[in-house]
Amino acid sequence: MCEAGEDTPDGRVPEAILDSRSGFASRDPRFIWSQLRVTTEAMSHNEPDAPRPRLVRYEQARVLGGGSSINGQLANRGAPHDYDEWQQRGANGWRWETVLPYFKRVERDVDFDGPLHGTDGRIPVRRVFPDNWSDYAKAVAEAFKLAGYRYVPDQNGEFQDGYYPLTMSNLYDRRVSAAVGYLGPTVRQRDNLTIVTEAQVSGLLFEDTRCVGIRAVVRGRAQEFRANEVILCCGAIHSPAMLLRAGIGPVGHLREMGIEVRAARPGVGQRLMDHPSISVASFLKAHARKNPYSKRSLHLGMRFSSGVEGAPVGDMALTVSNKSAWHAIGDRIAVITLWVNKTFSETGQVRLSSTDWRQEPDVDFNLLSDHRDLVRLARGFRQIAALHDLPPLQAVTSDAFPASFTDKIRKVGTYNTKNAILTRIGATLMDGPASLRQFIIRGFIMEHAGLMQALQDDEALEAYIKRATVGVWHCSCSCRMGADNDPMAVTDQGGRVRGVHGLRVVDASIFPVVPCANTNFPTMMVAEKIADEMLRDEPATRPAHQTAMA
Ligand SMILES: Cc1cc2nc3c(=O)[nH]c(=O)nc-3n(C[C@H](O)[C@H](O)[C@H](O)COP(=O)(O)OP(=O)(O)OC[C@H]3O[C@@H](n4cnc5c(N)ncnc54)[C@H](O)[C@@H]3O)c2cc1C
Repeated sequence: MCEAGEDTPDGRVPEAILDSRSGFASRDPRFIWSQLRVTTEAMSHNEPDAPRPRLVRYEQARVLGGGSSINGQLANRGAPHDYDEWQQRGANGWRWETVLPYFKRVERDVDFDGPLHGTDGRIPVRRVFPDNWSDYAKAVAEAFKLAGYRYVPDQNGEFQDGYYPLTMSNLYDRRVSAAVGYLGPTVRQRDNLTIVTEAQVSGLLFEDTRCVGIRAVVRGRAQEFRANEVILCCGAIHSPAMLLRAGIGPVGHLREMGIEVRAARPGVGQRLMDHPSISVASFLKAHARKNPYSKRSLHLGMRFSSGVEGAPVGDMALTVSNKSAWHAIGDRIAVITLWVNKTFSETGQVRLSSTDWRQEPDVDFNLLSDHRDLVRLARGFRQIAALHDLPPLQAVTSDAFPASFTDKIRKVGTYNTKNAILTRIGATLMDGPASLRQFIIRGFIMEHAGLMQALQDDEALEAYIKRATVGVWHCSCSCRMGADNDPMAVTDQGGRVRGVHGLRVVDASIFPVVPCANTNFPTMMVAEKIADEMLRDEPATRPAHQTAMA
């Protein structure tokens, strides 16, 4: 198994990774692909000469365990209809009843059992229940109740609208990544497993149309690894780039890049997805900053239905955080992040910028390409803004403003002494007179229009949302699995790349559509299911040491 980033072996998992807070490890340059830039704004296919939207950072993990080592640790699966849709889209065998056993196999739910929960999987999941929520989360829950929503104790056990304690892959206030959960000391002693870290795969080795191994640069030294079968799991941005460089992809793009076509697969890198999102932040009054129970600031979430035609129940989701970052200003800014859980925008793409394997690809998410997503975010934005006028939120917050995770915010969010000092000064000013606080918010935190300005009229709000919408790191669907007769399908139902042999993709890129969920558990479910099928199909013919994973 080759991984470009660092190892995280038992007893030596970096503190930043074990840290319970979301948005902490992902700001650490050691654990991300730091050159990656993407566009998020919608692009018109009718105007090929229009300038490309601005490039922004987009964190992707570069460490063993991938995203599970740096993500927000939210552990949910989506709804049964998500996987029934996978099946309808041509991923035969992936409907809810057939994927549920694999979701259960991943987890060890320490709070709930019953037919929807796993009790002995490698990843513990739990919740922080209302008694232990931050004062801010309690106030927001009160506001939800006033707005007519009900409490759902188990986010993964009931697929209805309501607010709930967020399910997370975390035990004793420590992250449990896929690497920690699956690659523990006993597993590492297996003689059919070799883990090679700081090993960036530079290409796939082929003999005609059979993939026979990988080429990698391991701590500066070029090496080859041969295998009967190669399993590509570089994520929804880097897996399609790897296929494209190997000549598997849309013929036009491959020719444009001067790459010989090995297999014409028009779907490679196409129809990339993420969940479009927007946030409303507010200043947290001093008495409401208490969070005695956990280092985590994300306790409460909600799903609700927009009523937009064709959208299922729970097509919108939000999380509530009593801290926007690790630093002193972060302690004073609470955030509600809203996203379109059932997004209809599926026109993003990953294309090569160069044939050089060291270069990041061009990534355009084209969020909000479907107008219904824009409409729902605008409506949801108004609803969240209105919550801030209700007494429970008035009691704990002031100065609500539209927020976005911009590169300016990212820069201040990097964990270092300079940022700690600067934010301490800013925080002291924010605790002073309202005018000073507003000056800091407008001058140093906000990048876009103020809340009142954005809410002025529908046109102003839509313009704001078009510019400020970002993804929530749920990149997926760029090498979709699908039916034999689907020309856009990149893999079959077992992740086998169509048109070649000896090569599978097993990661979020093979989702047939992004589910109404954070994507880590769906990705682990996909891995469990395909692993099970591989073991079942070929137990006798698969010699040890001959599967390479990248
Ligand atoms: C900041 C952030 C927050 C998130 N929050 C949540 C959350 O709270 N809950 C949730 O469910 N999901 C969350 N996600 C999404 C979730 O983590 C991902 O959907 C999931 O990790 C996808 O898994 P993957 O296997 O497709 O790709 P990844 O997890 O990205 O794994 C790909 C791996 O391949 C490696 N790799 C890539 N190219 C090469 C190469 N050339 N050579 C060698 N190795 C290579 C990478 O370094 C990486 O380790 C978040 C993601 C991020 C980035």
